[in-house]
Amino acid sequence: MSAFPHVLPTYNRASLAFERGEGVWAITADGTRFLDLGAGIAVNALGHANPELVAALTAQAQRIWHVSNLYQIPEQEKLAALLVEHSFAETVFFTNSGTEAAELAIKMARKYHDSNGQPERVEIVTFEGAFHGRSTGAIAASGAEKMVKGFGPLMPGFRQVPFGDLDALREAVSDKSCAVMIEPIQGEGGIRPLSDETLREIRALCDQTGALLILDEVQCGMGRTGRLFAHEWAGIVPDIMMIAKGIGGGFPLGAVLATAKAAAGMVAGTHGSTYGGNPLACAVGARVVEIVADPEFLAEVGRKGALMRQKLEGLVASHPDIFEAVRGVGLMLGLKCRVAPADLVAVGYQEQILTVAAADNTLRLLPPLNISDDEIAEAVTRLDRVAAMLDGTADE
Ligand SMILES: *Cc1c(COP(=O)(O)O)cnc(C)c1O
Repeated sequence: MSAFPHVLPTYNRASLAFERGEGVWAITADGTRFLDLGAGIAVNALGHANPELVAALTAQAQRIWHVSNLYQIPEQEKLAALLVEHSFAETVFFTNSGTEAAELAIKMARKYHDSNGQPERVEIVTFEGAFHGRSTGAIAASGAEKMVKGFGPLMPGFRQVPFGDLDALREAVSDKSCAVMIEPIQGEGGIRPLSDETLREIRALCDQTGALLILDEVQCGMGRTGRLFAHEWAGIVPDIMMIAKGIGGGFPLGAVLATAKAAAGMVAGTHGSTYGGNPLACAVGARVVEIVADPEFLAEVGRKGALMRQKLEGLVASHPDIFEAVRGVGLMLGLKCRVAPADLVAVGYQEQILTVAAADNTLRLLPPLNISDDEIAEAVTRLDRVAAMLDGTADE
């Protein structure tokens, strides 16, 4: 008998297991229904067991599961064409996760300068509080002590500046820099949006210096903010963008989107993936994009985000000892807390509501994008009970 957990204990897991799901509800084996405002951390963009996604996945499963990238993959072509149609991008590479997308984004940016005869342009500037995944490259990009400690030597060539600090960024980025890599809205960092003005300034700085702009929309993309991609609000476009999470609706899928210019160095043999662009993943991803890119769907995300935000403002006002403020865009919302967000998450389990803690003392609310108005009202009612248990205003 081994005393060490069979599953590597890198997570602080709640003692909860879900057997099935329906829309915004995650259901345990004994039938208890939890209102899921975490959605697998912004992954189940269209809820659990969405009938259209189940149909897309099972139809593909009947045909063919896996084909090597040695061959043409029509499902990949279809999804890439959809993403190109609905974004700034001219080309797409598929991955299985956000981390892998970050790795390619870094490689692509460095290769771009190398191909342009400036191989010394390797340094990528990021904001403190960033999260790009857990590979050695992605943790080096973030630089956060809790992620990097003990894993050195780290991949060189990253520099962090304070979040949103344009002066520090201007000082760090020069005509010797490779790229600026940022999340338009930090997710793990605590639902911290950059203003549209700041994003425009960063785009201008990249244009002046020739550094590429890499946007990480793994969490804030795919309709979460009420636009297909969060940067659209600022009226700018990146050179390279990572997406993952919501695009697969729960099936592992990520992608790097790029302009032809930024991607020019990535010729045959420079990158690859066994599973990336797998037909099952792409069949589901194409259905997700078809549904989410619909302007009416996106308008609904914006309307529901505003509704939820308004109700959350009321919640903050009723529990000033627990909450400080609401922030975020669309259905990517955060409650800045005055107590440990982990305590709210834990009491939430008793009230059958799932939320996710983030850095900067923030509780994250990332519901499926098709949550109904009634479910939003129910969610805020449950959050009100959670707060009341903690600030002593509960009846019982
Ligand atoms: C989750 C996340 C990643 C990493 O994605 P994985 O699929 O976990 O590898 C990267 N960037 C951002 C902004 C994320 O939220």
